[in-house]
Amino acid sequence: MTSERTFIAIKPDGVQRGLIGEIIGRFERKGFKLVGIKQLIPTRELAENHYKVHRGRPFFAGLVDLITSGPVVAMVWEGDCIISSARKIIGATKPLEAEPGTIRGDLAINISRNVIHGSDAVETAEFEINLWFKASELNI
Ligand code: UDP
Ligand code: MG
Repeated sequence: MTSERTFIAIKPDGVQRGLIGEIIGRFERKGFKLVGIKQLIPTRELAENHYKVHRGRPFFAGLVDLITSGPVVAMVWEGDCIISSARKIIGATKPLEAEPGTIRGDLAINISRNVIHGSDAVETAEFEINLWFKASELNI
């Protein structure tokens, strides 16, 4: 087992719906360790950078509008194989295809308001952690 870190964000729709505790609880109960957390309204620059792989897609402008529309809870979680495990806990991008028991399967119905983001690979996790956090904001 390799210990990894991943970037998880509760998007503004999740924060507004009062799902912060529910979502953090799921990662805690699984056994993962929270190593950094803050709440912020991302700038457009941060949001566009975070979602830069999607630049040019028809949903890109709306996606950036939504993620900058209110507070986001940005977190770094640590644990064995957490990058793929967190994606399983989160569920499929389209909430109607997400299995019951996953965050999106249980808590969302709309793809653009799918509550949560999680890094999808080692490289993206590293990029996203460095984009959202300074090293001094994370546990050693
Ligand atoms: N998204 C959207 N419409 C689409 C595809 C994606 O609104 O047709 C949004 C959705 O909120 C998704 C985000 O863009 O979570 C990033 O898309 P990605 O395919 O990376 O999904 P994720 O990694 O979040 O599951
Ligand atoms: Mg993605």
